[in-house]
Amino acid sequence: MADYVYGPGRTHLFVPGPVNIPDQVLRAMNRQNEDYRSPAIPAMTKILLEDVKKIFKTTTGTIFMIPTTGTGAWESALTNTLSPGDRIVSFLIGQFSLLWIDQQQRLGFNVDVVESEWGRGADLDVLEAKLRDDTAHTIKAIAIVHNETATGVTNDLTKVRKLLDTYRHPALLLVDGVSSICALDFRMDEWGVDVALTGSQKALSLPTGMGIVCAGPRAIEASKTATSRRVFFDWKDYLRTYNLGTYWPYTPSIQLLYGLRAALDLIFEEGLDNIIKRHNRLGTATRLAVQAWGLKNCTQKEEWFSDTVTAVVVPPYIDSNEIVKQAWKRYNLSLGLGLNKISGKVFRIGHLGNLNELQLLGCLSGVEMVLKDVGYPVKLGSGVGAAAAYLSNFTPFIPSRI
Ligand SMILES: *Cc1c(COP(=O)(O)O)cnc(C)c1O
Repeated sequence: MADYVYGPGRTHLFVPGPVNIPDQVLRAMNRQNEDYRSPAIPAMTKILLEDVKKIFKTTTGTIFMIPTTGTGAWESALTNTLSPGDRIVSFLIGQFSLLWIDQQQRLGFNVDVVESEWGRGADLDVLEAKLRDDTAHTIKAIAIVHNETATGVTNDLTKVRKLLDTYRHPALLLVDGVSSICALDFRMDEWGVDVALTGSQKALSLPTGMGIVCAGPRAIEASKTATSRRVFFDWKDYLRTYNLGTYWPYTPSIQLLYGLRAALDLIFEEGLDNIIKRHNRLGTATRLAVQAWGLKNCTQKEEWFSDTVTAVVVPPYIDSNEIVKQAWKRYNLSLGLGLNKISGKVFRIGHLGNLNELQLLGCLSGVEMVLKDVGYPVKLGSGVGAAAAYLSNFTPFIPSRI
């Protein structure tokens, strides 16, 4: 019996992670296992660690490539830099920030939760008041999700850095960059981020299974005195193997390492800045389509628009879960569900990772057909037309070797 559901042609995978894997990366991962203690894997790892720094835009950071997901990378960031009872300021703006806050509380930290309506960004006025009042420096860390994947909201990290600098506050800046790093503008060193993290299945366009954490010098320093219990995630074990030149305290996925090598080669060939521009074009085109359909973006203000995911609000008489279900059943198109309290009210279009203009137009035409199927009065071609008219103004990426 087939262990998958067959449909001719390609699946249009438009969830905001896991995302489409480039064929070159799939081929690079089709490998036999290897001894990770042989000279080859440490030699390869050494170069990977240097190259991964480039996607964080850091020269001073230390990379930890951990066999885990984004959730494990969160735990790694928190437990290595903080002690039980430490005060954290954290912003609740959607499902992913909610889950991170839940983890912070369950790990025993004292979390000041700053809540905003879902569809809005982090409330930085509240942060400012807290920093101004905290002359005793009881706040040990600011934890913020750069791009809230549930609502399609991007927070401006430069504003957070500016507030910390204005009040000369020493709190660590911990950033979830899971749906931003390698797709949106992110600058670890320039923005004074102390820990940033991502997961392999998002913009890096790899399979799930590698959590990548980048720790700046202040975070490494903090890890020397932080008393949170940690074993699997302890940076100390990695640092010891880095000094030895063996690089792995426990077994890495050999296939993921080869995949990462191939993924980075493609990223550097396209260029990080071109990748960011491509995501901006795809994000803008998607927003134009949503507008042409007469639907609302869940994101309330332009300053927060996300170039990696768009959450589309449906009219009250339509169940957005039905849209996602029918898209998959009828058109082999995977869209993102509305999560938690916006379940049934929004569906999401993920436009991140290895994706081009025509793939996006395919997705948008699928969305139009489904909207018609569920009884929304959409003019077929309206969103696709608006998106295509915009996209046709740009020359897409052409490989330099041609
Ligand atoms: C996907 C995602 C996560 C969770 O990652 P997992 O790999 O599922 O553990 C965390 N934060 C953000 C912003 C995400 O998009």
